[in-house]
Amino acid sequence: MLPNFGEIPRPNWIEINLDNLQNNICFIRNLLSEKTKMLLPVKADAYGHGSLAISKAAIEAGIDFLGVAHLFEAVALREHGIDARILILGPCLESDFALLLKHNLTPSLQDFETAKKLSDFCKINNCRIPIHIQIDTGMHRFGIHYEDFEDVKKICDLPNVEVEGLYSHFATADMPENAATDIQLVRFERMVKELEVSKMRPPICHIANSSATLLSSKTHYNMVRTGIAVYGYDPIGKIQDRFPLKPVLKLRSTVRALRNVSHGEGVSYGHYFVAKKNMRVATIAIGYGDGYMRGEPSKGEVFIRGKPAAILGRVCMDACMVDVSEIPDVRIGDMVECINGDLSKDISIEAFAKEHNTISYEITTRMARRLYRLYQYKGKLTGWNLLSFSHV
Ligand SMILES: *Cc1c(COP(=O)(O)O)cnc(C)c1O
Repeated sequence: MLPNFGEIPRPNWIEINLDNLQNNICFIRNLLSEKTKMLLPVKADAYGHGSLAISKAAIEAGIDFLGVAHLFEAVALREHGIDARILILGPCLESDFALLLKHNLTPSLQDFETAKKLSDFCKINNCRIPIHIQIDTGMHRFGIHYEDFEDVKKICDLPNVEVEGLYSHFATADMPENAATDIQLVRFERMVKELEVSKMRPPICHIANSSATLLSSKTHYNMVRTGIAVYGYDPIGKIQDRFPLKPVLKLRSTVRALRNVSHGEGVSYGHYFVAKKNMRVATIAIGYGDGYMRGEPSKGEVFIRGKPAAILGRVCMDACMVDVSEIPDVRIGDMVECINGDLSKDISIEAFAKEHNTISYEITTRMARRLYRLYQYKGKLTGWNLLSFSHV
């Protein structure tokens, strides 16, 4: 049965299961010590799931911090009534100061000069802004070099900012056999110790992403920053059985046309697929314009009426063709399971991502704005569309 979309029928949609999100938060929370906080990254529209709905559900489930990449993402959340703590993970510029103060946001600082300017700004405005100092322990993306103890201490000494956090980010935590993670942890620990000795250790030290959180409790410190695991996807590729995380997102489409294709005929742009027998072909409404991977022609499958249907040839912008020769009862309007099937594991997001040489993060963040967003919350499916920025 197709969900109710209100007045306007929709050919493609994603279902976002907020109950699963809340379950995943509880599950991860139970891996942590009582005092360890949890930050949920909701950057990139909550990894494509809709940052407003995800933030609300996460706050209800007891998340301590939200994380975004850019200032504007944090401001958008504030403007839609989210008043939880928000840490901006990208670097802070002087031009951000006024909005940080106005919206009560927490920046990441990665150089003394900007921190000093922020402290001066706070003095003039008679306020104290909490900050987190980011340390580069080996990712080489953002942060102060792990041996620049003096710069970090100078920031801690500034009179008008409050150094609440110290953090770093792993480059290889999803590769358990890679020694770089331990090296980064040692470098981070050295910085933490150095500050501790000087009685400057910030209250919230944090370094763990999802992979580190799941694999190693010694990375937890005072907070973990778990993104992909909270969204229910396996960051490592081997832990689905050990950690009962439930996928939050499902991608669904509908059958729009049916035809017979004769032996020897080509299908879709470029005729990369040529029928080796007479076959029954369904055209479904999902295309790369919806964020469905185009990739190589004739890769992957969808499920219709609980049965697999292989994709034939190139995925188009607004459609693709699938083999329904073995699904004789298929009808126009049938629901199509594209990603994260209810019955089949073969279209899990991890399998889909692997097939397209990418990661689940890229698949979900590509979900296009024109996809309708349906939310499941407390067992009920609703067209709670206003809760996604994509449709505000
Ligand atoms: C996105 C992000 C995370 C979350 O990583 P996951 O692998 O999704 O858990 C953690 N920390 C920082 C700095 C990030 O940018």
